[in-house]
Amino acid sequence: MKIFAIGFGQAGGKLVDLFVEFDKRTRQNCIVRALAINTAKADLLGLKHIPMEDRLLIGQSRVKGHGVGADNELGAKVAAEDIYSIQNAIDKRGTHQTDAFFIIAGLGGGTGSGGAPVLARRLKKLYMEPVYGLGILPSRDEGGLYSLNAARSFMSFVKEVDNLFLFDNDAWKREGESLKDAYALMNEEIVRRFSILFGAGESNEVGQMVVDVSEITNTLKGGGVSTVGYAMEPVVGKKKGIFGRFKKEKQSMDTLDTTARILSLMRRAVMGRLTIQCDISTAEKALIVMAGPPDELNRKGMEKAKLWLEDLIKGAEVRGGDYPVPKSNKVAAVAVFSGVTDVPRIKELQKMALEAHETIKEVESKKDEKFEELLDTDESLKPLI
Ligand code: GDP
Repeated sequence: MKIFAIGFGQAGGKLVDLFVEFDKRTRQNCIVRALAINTAKADLLGLKHIPMEDRLLIGQSRVKGHGVGADNELGAKVAAEDIYSIQNAIDKRGTHQTDAFFIIAGLGGGTGSGGAPVLARRLKKLYMEPVYGLGILPSRDEGGLYSLNAARSFMSFVKEVDNLFLFDNDAWKREGESLKDAYALMNEEIVRRFSILFGAGESNEVGQMVVDVSEITNTLKGGGVSTVGYAMEPVVGKKKGIFGRFKKEKQSMDTLDTTARILSLMRRAVMGRLTIQCDISTAEKALIVMAGPPDELNRKGMEKAKLWLEDLIKGAEVRGGDYPVPKSNKVAAVAVFSGVTDVPRIKELQKMALEAHETIKEVESKKDEKFEELLDTDESLKPLI
């Protein structure tokens, strides 16, 4: 699937930067265009792989390249004011090769949190191609303001895109890890998953059940929130049989091994840590993809995995297929659950956001009172001007 990736804000820019690097290194060629948009010049300069001409600084007249300081209302305002220069940058890069737009943003901050929904709305109005979003949720210890930003941005973003993937920083950070290391690991996890998902529709290899682009778009068509699971195993070289008469027996043993491995990897992907934890039985649709060398993939394994998943999430449409990667030294399974409705972390985020909103209102009104008190002289003094 050919993707036009747009990173909005710092987290979004860093992730698209990593996608570009991964796409080049693995020669996947699924990121056909990439753009990083930010109000902070320093963040744009910190990127490594997105070419300079694909980094767009917005809001210069308002914030002079210094960012919006976690104020997502200002982020949204700046994006709306500069929407024509964003649109122009996208048009100039051309969208004729694009199957879908993919907007990535950290929802807890300011620029991406405010700007991503504004951009999604515009793209939906202008282009036929679907617009997918990836929203990064803040971890609990980032505080009330970040939760409030994320909860409000989520409400808008999910309505403006064709499908919103979520990644929960809180569920992925580990005790005692520096923030930099934690982000590096989380970002790798994200890129690995989405590269298989979007790369799947781009395979030129002839496989037994190769996934095509329409299977991905049909899975994501219903809208709402999506989550992604992943599992991987290295491939250990298979010994070739030396006696011809054992060859058939060996082939059927290999098929059995491969089928069992596909099923077990898919189970691990589905039951392991998802980008956001949720009750997958509430999903409307699911897509499973097995990536790896062609002789490690087989139809029987995929069919069994699909049946198992259909049984687990009864009533959901389940699609599945292969992504043959001839020289790969691993097999990986990706599972996408789209349109999930039971997502406890969202409910918790909304609760934290409401509490933060109340506290902010209270502090502001108390502050106003105190300030009035500070200036009060029982009318015995008059201000100068
Ligand atoms: P903006 O530049 O104003 O849009 O703000 P950010 O993109 O820095 O958004 C802040 C949120 O993104 C916070 O919740 C951070 O935890 C998260 N964040 C920042 N950088 C990264 C990153 O590299 N990876 C991940 N997963 N999250 C990040």
